[in-house]
Amino acid sequence: MSFEKLGLIAPLLNALESEGYTTPTPIQQQAIPIVLEQRDLLGCAQTGTGKTAAFALPLLQLLHTHQQSQGAQPRAQRNIKALVLTPTRELAIQIGESFAAYGKNMDLRHLVIFGGVSQHPQTLALKKGVDILIATPGRLLDLIQQRFISLQQLKFFVLDEADRMLDMGFVHDVKRILTLLPAQRQSLFFSATMPPEIQKLANAILNNPAKVEV
Ligand code: AMP
Repeated sequence: MSFEKLGLIAPLLNALESEGYTTPTPIQQQAIPIVLEQRDLLGCAQTGTGKTAAFALPLLQLLHTHQQSQGAQPRAQRNIKALVLTPTRELAIQIGESFAAYGKNMDLRHLVIFGGVSQHPQTLALKKGVDILIATPGRLLDLIQQRFISLQQLKFFVLDEADRMLDMGFVHDVKRILTLLPAQRQSLFFSATMPPEIQKLANAILNNPAKVEV
């Protein structure tokens, strides 16, 4: 199995080659074609399985393809098209690094925001235009309330590490964020475990999802 056979395009294949990735991991083999088909996805996978690339690669491809067909917007006018919600600052930073590495041959801007630090650099970066936002829940809600962020143009939503999100007490924040997302979107949901309350949250987010377990 190769990344090319999964349907990924040259800008991504070249980036993967420079990362030294030769073979997709099981979650990548299963998830990438589903996401490229624009289906919702319920992924049961732990950190270390390669799940970040399993969602980042096809999302970059869908965003890039859309940009190619529409013509690129001037950067400052870009609105957030993809949101990745993750429970911790460390995970947010890692996911941001993955988008940077895999998307290096594309003209897509990403930004990582999290709490516990000054919001000023984050709001300045938001004003420069962002295609992909990677966020922890509390800071995201803060910046939405202050109108630095609008999710009206969102097309893709990823909830990463849903079980940790609940363990860390973010369930209310996540539910509030859900009310702010356009109904018409593609959603991807990842969790290491699927107890009933996680399954319930997944049902509230996903529309006829394909299920993948590794
Ligand atoms: P993750 O589960 O997303 O946290 O990824 C775990 C680690 O595996 C990260 O350091 C990735 O850079 C690496 N990785 C992900 N996919 C591949 C792959 N197909 N080949 C080699 N390394 C990979």
